Amino acid sequence: MRFSAAYIPTLKETPADAEVASHQLMLRAGMIRRLSSGLYIYLPLGLRVVERIGAVVRKHMNAAGFQELLLPMVQPAELWMESGRWDQYGKELLRFKDRGERDCCLGPTHEEVVTDLVRDEVRSYRQLPVRLYQIQTKFRDEIRPRFGLMRAREFVMKDAYSFDLDVEAAERSYRAMYDAYVGVFTELGLRFRAVEADNGSIGGNFSHEFMVIADIGEDVVCHCRDCDYAANLERAEVAFGGAATPDACPPTESVSTPGAHTVEAVSSLLGVPPSRLVKTLVLKADDRPVAVLVRGDREANEAKVKRLLGAVSVELADAATVRAVTGAPMGFAGPVGLDIPVYADNELQAGTDYVTGANAPDAHLRHVHLPRDVRVEAFADLRCLTPEDPCPRCGGPMRLTRGIEVGHVFMLGLKYSESMHMVIQDEAGQERFPVMGCYGIGVSRVAAAAIEQNHDADGILFPPPMAPYAVHLLNLDPRKPDVTEVADRIHDLLEASGRDVLLDDRAERPGVKFKDADLMGAPMQLVVGGKGLAAGIVECKDRRTGVKGELPVGDGFLAAFDAWAGEVEDGWRRHRDAAEGSA
Ligand code: ATP
Ligand code: MG
Repeated sequence: MRFSAAYIPTLKETPADAEVASHQLMLRAGMIRRLSSGLYIYLPLGLRVVERIGAVVRKHMNAAGFQELLLPMVQPAELWMESGRWDQYGKELLRFKDRGERDCCLGPTHEEVVTDLVRDEVRSYRQLPVRLYQIQTKFRDEIRPRFGLMRAREFVMKDAYSFDLDVEAAERSYRAMYDAYVGVFTELGLRFRAVEADNGSIGGNFSHEFMVIADIGEDVVCHCRDCDYAANLERAEVAFGGAATPDACPPTESVSTPGAHTVEAVSSLLGVPPSRLVKTLVLKADDRPVAVLVRGDREANEAKVKRLLGAVSVELADAATVRAVTGAPMGFAGPVGLDIPVYADNELQAGTDYVTGANAPDAHLRHVHLPRDVRVEAFADLRCLTPEDPCPRCGGPMRLTRGIEVGHVFMLGLKYSESMHMVIQDEAGQERFPVMGCYGIGVSRVAAAAIEQNHDADGILFPPPMAPYAVHLLNLDPRKPDVTEVADRIHDLLEASGRDVLLDDRAERPGVKFKDADLMGAPMQLVVGGKGLAAGIVECKDRRTGVKGELPVGDGFLAAFDAWAGEVEDGWRRHRDAAEGSA
């Protein structure tokens, strides 16, 4: 490809509205443009990257026994009503009416459509397993689209679905997909980790997320340094040793705490460390008020509360509810005397003599002993893991890092086959609901995550398998026929040998060309200039390491190039394997 004929609008300045490196670099390198909030145009260079990622995904899906199809993006509401998600899904589901006044939505995911397809055609256990996937544009009306392709409203996803006769067979499909994901992210050259995860609005039994390790990640990955336990923060179990509660505690007394409605304020006013305070959170679980207690120095974990209560939604109660339930403004709620269900984090069994809110304005209670003073519905693991907590499996030290979720595999169980009444006859002629799994990869998010993980001050460092061009070939002096002749010949030679080459033949200064080459991040750069040709060489540069070398211009060129390209690719593999965080 000749740069002069390509649509690659690179930018010199960093766009002001892009906060993170991947977003800035994708705009600057001429890969994407913003159309509107969360809506992006994939320019030719950006599309090449998405397609190269898609090709790796396809290869591993096919090898795992999944077949590609393409489902419509517009979906009829009836299917979502059958599954119950029309009411559950919330505002991320973009709903509209067609000209016949029929309710429709844009697909944020396709469980309903694929279940509807398969239930009409698959009746016998002999037709199982059914394993299907697609790579398609999804729409989710995200509340806070940001970071470019990382959290867009319209984005490219690979979604796959499996149907099996029983749990055992379904676990084989799940395992095949899990292994395929490890294959995909390894081949793409990313440093990633598979972690136990929560199921969220998709429902189902268990799941794993695949996280690309990066500082700007929105998720926290918890992993053990000694064993292979890894989970995201929502899911990570907190081990509880079960220490007994000491029972000597003076009677409770109310103390005046004017204006002290935060843990910090109460702690410094009363001279009591945050770990001796109890935070009382008034929550609405499916509109039912409940109280959740955690130690003052801990964070409550919403996903764990949801799971314990079997609730679809859990949110902080508004000020009016807090006042109605506790009789006090926000910040002064406490568990003593509350007549809504109270759930307490395990850890609170281990101590006594706590400070809590007093359910009265500007007042707290001292000397609270939970078993004596509070009716606790249940003690459970309700808080977030901290780096000080031991591994719940082996007791080893835990490490918390940030990650970007690029893939998610779910064991769905019977959720959709039951609600949408898909039945199969088993060997004995009995009717059964098949066991489903569903599996997503954020193909466009992978592009952003890869750049987040692989860039430097000058631009992108594309891992070779997803680079839009393998070789960025610079013709430093297009006006000189001898330089141009060699640059053109190398371009044709490499393309003929199966490499994607971008030949910068523009009438620009060398400095501009060097800068754009570094910005656009092809793993290999070749520089053809008058001086080198006089010495019979072209210069080569490994974009990741910056190491330069020379290749002969004459007959030995292709062999020398192949040897050097092999070294560059090996270097990438070693770099990935050496980095901490690789699965
Ligand atoms: P998140 O927690 O980031 O919102 P999710 O749990 O909603 O993700 P899934 O429903 O599991 O995501 O979707 C499968 C994959 O699609 C995710 O692992 C992610 O890589 C990608 N994805 C989800 N939402 C977006 C988005 N708004 N923009 C880009 N990619 C997305
Ligand atoms: Mg989401």
